[in-house]
Amino acid sequence: MRIAVMYGPREVGVEDRPDPKLVEPTDAILRLSATCICGSDLWPHWGIGALDGPSPMGHEYVGVVEEVGSEVKTIKPGQFVVGSFWASDNTCQICQAGYQCACIQRVGMRSAQAERLRVPLADGTLVATPEPPADDLIPSFLAASDVLGTGWFGAVAAEAGPGKTVAVVGDGAVGLFAVLAAKQLGAERIIAMSRHQSRQKLALDYGATDIVEERGEEGVAKIKDLTDGLGAHSVVEAVGTQESFKQAIGSTRPGGHVGFVGVLHDVQLAGEELFWSHVHVHGGPAPVRRFLPQLMDLIWNRQIDPGKVFDLELPLEQAAEGYQAMDERRAIKVLLQP
Ligand SMILES: [Zn+2]
Ligand SMILES: [Zn+2]
Repeated sequence: MRIAVMYGPREVGVEDRPDPKLVEPTDAILRLSATCICGSDLWPHWGIGALDGPSPMGHEYVGVVEEVGSEVKTIKPGQFVVGSFWASDNTCQICQAGYQCACIQRVGMRSAQAERLRVPLADGTLVATPEPPADDLIPSFLAASDVLGTGWFGAVAAEAGPGKTVAVVGDGAVGLFAVLAAKQLGAERIIAMSRHQSRQKLALDYGATDIVEERGEEGVAKIKDLTDGLGAHSVVEAVGTQESFKQAIGSTRPGGHVGFVGVLHDVQLAGEELFWSHVHVHGGPAPVRRFLPQLMDLIWNRQIDPGKVFDLELPLEQAAEGYQAMDERRAIKVLLQP
């Protein structure tokens, strides 16, 4: 099969590798219908975090089940399924508490930018649609595999809800879906912090009521201006840098909540600053699996349209061009067609 491999910073290629095979009796093999490039795939692309030799890429996937192991009970060949970037049993105490991303049996997914994929713990990891979906819904289901669920978790962690003012730091796919989630969760006012016109437009489509272009201390001041000097009730941090994290904490009112879902890189939190801020801070890699049934239902019933976030679609063979387009911010998110 064909698979995207990163050989080093800014060096992505597509090569032949053997088809994946069942290894454990709880595995499934999928023929992927679509896959994509994640914002977090850009960190190794930039040379941040060393690669362990040539690395198969990708952790977001939807596809049709081709084969299942002897202990797989609920997932069947022929089903169209969505899974997240951690395979999880969905039965241990941590999973039952809604933190499948920290499952005691978890397996990190990689090598999903490919034609086929082995998924461990298939019954716990995968969620099937009632029937094979219409083609135009496939990008939306693909978004549910990571970025939609991650943005949703950010909004839940920030306790977005009725009567709340929610601010979102970051206008990548995750930030845009935090906006969508805040809207779905009933937030009264949603402030998207974005400087890019096409992303601002999508944020407004997804339910943002205000756009703030300022960043850093100016951004914080603007959020305070818009909230009678108090700050937002809920702030989603969807970038992962020192500046954005500081901006998120500073934009939150005392007693408010920060949900942080941008992958952190060298962020230092000043204990004293946090001590005096009186904000709740919760986040980390999103337990997307917790939200999959609900999100897939919203997509199946066409109540949300997260697929719009894919503004560039390329054949898998052109994965390198996809990475470059996201790197240069010419594309918000790139769908790869295996
Ligand atoms: Zn991802
Ligand atoms: Zn578990």
